[in-house]
Amino acid sequence: MPERDPILLTPGPLTTSRATREAMLHDWGSWDTAFNQLTQSVCKDLVRIANGGDEFVCVPLQGSGTFAVEAAIGTLVPRDSRVLVPNNGAYCARIITILRRLGIACVELPFAESEPANAGAIDDALAGDSGITHVVMVQLETSAGLLNPLDAIAAICRSRGKRLIVDAMSSFGALPISLADSGIDALISASGKCLEGVPGMGFVLARRALLEASAGRSPSLALDLYDQYVYMQRTSQWRFTPPTHVVAALRAALDQFLGEGGQPARGARYAENCAALIDGMRALGFVPFLDASAQAPVIVTFHAPADPAYTFAALYTAVRNAGYVLYPGKLTTLETFRVGCIGALGAHEIRGAVAAIGDALRALGITLR
Ligand SMILES: *Cc1c(COP(=O)(O)O)cnc(C)c1O
Repeated sequence: MPERDPILLTPGPLTTSRATREAMLHDWGSWDTAFNQLTQSVCKDLVRIANGGDEFVCVPLQGSGTFAVEAAIGTLVPRDSRVLVPNNGAYCARIITILRRLGIACVELPFAESEPANAGAIDDALAGDSGITHVVMVQLETSAGLLNPLDAIAAICRSRGKRLIVDAMSSFGALPISLADSGIDALISASGKCLEGVPGMGFVLARRALLEASAGRSPSLALDLYDQYVYMQRTSQWRFTPPTHVVAALRAALDQFLGEGGQPARGARYAENCAALIDGMRALGFVPFLDASAQAPVIVTFHAPADPAYTFAALYTAVRNAGYVLYPGKLTTLETFRVGCIGALGAHEIRGAVAAIGDALRALGITLR
């Protein structure tokens, strides 16, 4: 018997189902009609899940999620734009870095890492600087697990006539998102997060008219979404070597997603996982970093124990040896660690992980109170 893989409590790569892994037990050529139909069916489902209707198209892109974020900004945002970025974590900061690399003017609107982006403050920022053309935001700031109010911000962008690009990397599939009439112009996510595929492919759901007006804009060859889109339209193939196995796994993962009941069911399972995690960790004496009102059911940040016997590495190793993989913290000042509650797992696995954390504390002699 092969050793069982550890359960990944990380926000991608994450634990996938056997059916998703088994979908990768074939080889496909890039010209293969069956493979290209697989790509098309995946794209069609992604638009449908986001309620994109005929107005939105899906452009898949090789690489991790950041490749798709950089591709979307580089292709869809004109160089003479001025972009507002609400910033409450590392993934927001990454958007600012991308804008700087592209030489696009950027206005940062900072918030605390525990504070959801305030829609009123965004409205004020747009009112006070009429040169701002775009907002680029993160819906779920994975660095703390924080939920930003996408609907309220999208409504403001729509009423003020600003373009809105959303990094929905760790929220798409888990939280309700409806593109039609939303004020959102493009949404970015990836194969290996809440859709529970394997990592290796990002995708952009873009307003068709906006994408079609983006010819020749991308400063990058490989990250040119327009070229990828046009080439796929013309040939039904990917422009460069496709991540064949990733696409096949995502097709299988989407079949399971739809079979489970789509976003409402996925979101409900994650909410149950998250509640089991927070309840169990509180019982051990851990304190979540975020207020419940700001906490998204995807990944939870906990304050590290103050006990000098604690190191993340020691806790990680002890819990890993029990079959569960934790995630380090990603906050700029506080010592924290994170536990994801997404992937092909339920409250049973979460309770197992909490028990393993409790055992590790005892074994390492770490006390919490
Ligand atoms: C995972 C993630 C990304 C992409 O990160 P990669 O390491 O490139 O996959 C971007 N934004 C958010 C909010 C994420 O959670």
